[in-house]
Amino acid sequence: MNKSSRILLIEDEVQIRRFVRQALEEEGYSIVESDTMHKALEHLQETAPAMIILDLGLPDGDGVDFIRSVRLHTDMPVLVLSARSSEAEKIHALDNGADDYLTKPFAIGELLARVRALLRRNKTDAPNLEASYRFGEIEVDLAHRQVTRNNAIVHLTPIEHRLLLTMLSNPGKVLTYRHLLRAVWGNAHAESNHYLRIYVGRLRQKLEDDTTQPKHFLTETGIGYRFQP
Ligand code: CA
Repeated sequence: MNKSSRILLIEDEVQIRRFVRQALEEEGYSIVESDTMHKALEHLQETAPAMIILDLGLPDGDGVDFIRSVRLHTDMPVLVLSARSSEAEKIHALDNGADDYLTKPFAIGELLARVRALLRRNKTDAPNLEASYRFGEIEVDLAHRQVTRNNAIVHLTPIEHRLLLTMLSNPGKVLTYRHLLRAVWGNAHAESNHYLRIYVGRLRQKLEDDTTQPKHFLTETGIGYRFQP
């Protein structure tokens, strides 16, 4: 991991912002702070952070709208830090492009672990794979982290990319929810099956011809998923 990674922290509560900033700086990250979405958008363009940590209840709008606008032009990891704790709220944020979700109050050790996991994007998750991998109309170029479909680039977020590589490296095998959650998000999410439902859905949208009848990313009901080349 690149410890000098810059993180954009968007949070209007001063105490939480200070607390998170201090903990991240102690780990060697550099932090750009923002207390509104408006300022965050400016910082985003000026500072090119490696990832975003974001509160949802902001004075000038809803953080989910911010995630949606960020997703129009970047694949950088987005971690939500919010007091909203219902499963529906989490799914709403994840569906709109967040990569992870931590509910307040949170343990700082867990926040740091999730930041590390999201920034671990260049580590290869798929030691069994060749430099490139092809199935159907899809080609995955591992060295360049590039996925193309009929020679057109498909934009995947870091989490989508890791999920794809984890599945590709085990072709034909049933991968349990727990295995996939650990491989992609880390131990903190071993029970969060709804994350997988959302992200496998995103891979299907981007890589399958017919998402209602997937050919490659198959559901194994009650167990997990299986990749079929
Ligand atoms: Ca807030």
